[in-house]
Amino acid sequence: MNAAPADQIRLLDLQAIDSRLDQLAHRRRSLPEHAEIEKINADHTALKDLVVAAQAQLGDTTRELTKAEQDVEQVRTRATRNQQRLDSGAITSPKDLENLQHEIGSLAKRQSDLEDVVLEVMERLESAQTRVTELSARLEHSSVILKEAEERRDAAFAEIDSEAEKVKRDRETVAVVIPADLLKLYTRLREQQGGVGAARLYQRRCEGCRVEFSTADLAAIKREPKDAVVRCENCSRILVRTADSGV
Ligand SMILES: [Zn+2]
Repeated sequence: MNAAPADQIRLLDLQAIDSRLDQLAHRRRSLPEHAEIEKINADHTALKDLVVAAQAQLGDTTRELTKAEQDVEQVRTRATRNQQRLDSGAITSPKDLENLQHEIGSLAKRQSDLEDVVLEVMERLESAQTRVTELSARLEHSSVILKEAEERRDAAFAEIDSEAEKVKRDRETVAVVIPADLLKLYTRLREQQGGVGAARLYQRRCEGCRVEFSTADLAAIKREPKDAVVRCENCSRILVRTADSGV
C-alpha cells in the first residue's frame, strides 16, 4: 500500500486522538463512584429488608400487647363482678361464699401474672420501635449518600463526555483527509493491536511495540519509497516515518 508521507503523519495525529478517546472511555468505566454506588446499593437493599422485618416485628408485638391488655381487662372485669356479688350480700351459703372468695383470690393472682406479661410485651415493643427508628434512619442516610455518589458520577460523566465530544470533532477533521484504504488498514490494525494501529519510528524503535530495529532493518526501511506504507515486522502496525525518525 502507498500513501503520501503527510497522510501517514496524519495517521499519528489520528492515533493520538483515538488513544485520548480510549483513555476517556476507560476513565468513564473505572470511576471510583461505580464501585461506591454498587456498594451503597447493596447496603441499601439489605437495610430495606431489615426495615421490613423490623416493621413486621413491631406489628406482631403491637398485636401481642393488645391481646395481653385484653386478657388483663377480662380478668379484671370478672374480679369486679365477683367482688360486687360478694359485697351485695346475696350469697349466703358458706360454701358458695368460700368458693367465691377463693375465685377472687385466684383472679387477683391471675391478673398480676397477666400484668407482668403486659409489662414484658411493652418492653419488647419499645425495643422493636427503637429498632425500626434506627434502621429507618440508616436507610434514609444510605439514600442520601447514594444520591450524592450518583451526582458525583454524573458530574464526572458530564465532564468526560464533554471532552470526548470535543475530541471527536477534532477526529472528524483529521480523519476526513486521510485516504480511505489507509484509514481502513489503520482501523483494522487498531482493533487487532489493543487500540494502536499506527506507531512512529523513533530512535531505532517502533513506538507501538518498542522493538529496536537492527542496522540492517533500518537500512531496509530507508530503502522503502517515501510513500510506501511500512509495517513493523514485530507487531505489524503501520510504522510511520517522520522527520526525526532518522531514516
Ligand atoms: Zn512494532
